[in-house]
Amino acid sequence: MIPAADALQLLRDGNGRFVANVRSHDSATEARRAEVAAGQEPFAIILGCSDSRVPAEIVFDQGLGDLFVIRVAGNIVAPSQVGSVEFAAERYGTRLVVVLGHSQCGAILATIDELKRPTINQSRNLHSIVDRIRPTIEPLLRTELEQDRDAFVTNAVRANVRSSVSHLRHGSEMLEQLIEKNNLVVVGAEYSLETGVVDFFDV
Ligand SMILES: [Zn+2]
Repeated sequence: MIPAADALQLLRDGNGRFVANVRSHDSATEARRAEVAAGQEPFAIILGCSDSRVPAEIVFDQGLGDLFVIRVAGNIVAPSQVGSVEFAAERYGTRLVVVLGHSQCGAILATIDELKRPTINQSRNLHSIVDRIRPTIEPLLRTELEQDRDAFVTNAVRANVRSSVSHLRHGSEMLEQLIEKNNLVVVGAEYSLETGVVDFFDV
């Protein structure tokens, strides 16, 4: 399995191709499909948001068998997300985990709205997502950021990514051991809907 630093470079290069509109990857071919049907060796695990505008394989210009992708609104970390990361890191030996947030994330916006104007009739399931994001964003409400909605959202998105990264780094005994002994690396990144650029800001 390739080391985390090399995996990170592959993602940076792939995103560069995506931004430059020179997507060269053709690893979704029939031949590649036959190859990966026998087994997979994904070089990176991506925990991203479900947002339709941020498909990991496309923004990183990757194909079949390259990425193990977990998508959930707000790229939150609940037990099943930890379990998915544990599974891939342990089973396939993947060394890099990326938490991929993005600008204008609907889950973040919904949480901000909820903090300012709590709704009573929100579904319990939806609430479970907002409740995971809320503790990270709440402290920002009492800062000067509150006067500037755009800056507030930007900071909230990044704080939420950092929180998920921290949760993966410290919230699982198995992942802690893989970080210590197998050089597993967990990093945080933000995708810009406007430019297509992925900024790895927490590495
Ligand atoms: Zn989102």
